[in-house]
Amino acid sequence: LIQVDNLQKNFKNIKVLNGITTQIKKGEVLVILGPSGCGKSTFLRCLNLLEEPTVGSIFFNGDEITDINTDINKHRQKMMMVFQHFNLFPHLTILENLIAGPVKLLKKSKEEAKAKGIELLKRVGLEDKAMAYPNQLSGGQKQRVAICRALAMEPEVILFDEPTSALDPEMVGEVLEVMKSLANEGMTMICVTHEMGFARMIANRIIFLYEGVVAEEGTPEEVFDRPKNENLKAFLSKTL
Ligand code: ATP
Ligand code: MG
Repeated sequence: LIQVDNLQKNFKNIKVLNGITTQIKKGEVLVILGPSGCGKSTFLRCLNLLEEPTVGSIFFNGDEITDINTDINKHRQKMMMVFQHFNLFPHLTILENLIAGPVKLLKKSKEEAKAKGIELLKRVGLEDKAMAYPNQLSGGQKQRVAICRALAMEPEVILFDEPTSALDPEMVGEVLEVMKSLANEGMTMICVTHEMGFARMIANRIIFLYEGVVAEEGTPEEVFDRPKNENLKAFLSKTL
């Protein structure tokens, strides 16, 4: 589904990503681990071109999205991102947050978008919040809405950037639960997370980023139980 070739990203003269090559298959759940500042967010942001790669190419469904002639907006709709800080529209109700994208970008009718929005809210147990505003919700509720908003666009892949790290501990579980059910349904997901138990449970593959390169890559068992890279060992001993 996604092919990344020799992705490099510099900010001025700081090298953040130093040549990342990987691919993500349809239905795969890829977890990205790494210490703060190693380039995890930058990597996700390059995938949907929120950041422009300095060097390298990215293919999505066989189209080179790093080619300047490609219509990135078309692809971006298929690659939704869920952020640490939710990024809901504060002046719109929950339901309005969910229908804005489908109406504007997918050209759905309001009725159709609303029906789909309510169905998604039901799925995460928040149908009674449809008319509320984001500031009336808890962090965990907001993040579940943010996931619904991504799903409302019917994406082919969802990129999660530390979706639970801004939450109070008691709300982490409800968000991970929703992510787990998506993974079980076959959604393609790329997740940056510090939830190691969760990573082990849902990942098909884990990438450990260190100083802008893939320092180690493997199944959860390989990465957690038999780490080879010294920096990965140090990272795990600090976080587990
Ligand atoms: P964290 O775990 O703290 O979220 P991260 O792995 O997501 O870290 P990034 O946010 O990708 O790290 O940042 C990697 C490096 O790139 C950092 O040194 C950061 O300061 C730098 N950086 C990120 N965005 C920019 C930017 N827009 N301009 C300049 N430097 C940036
Ligand atoms: Mg980050």
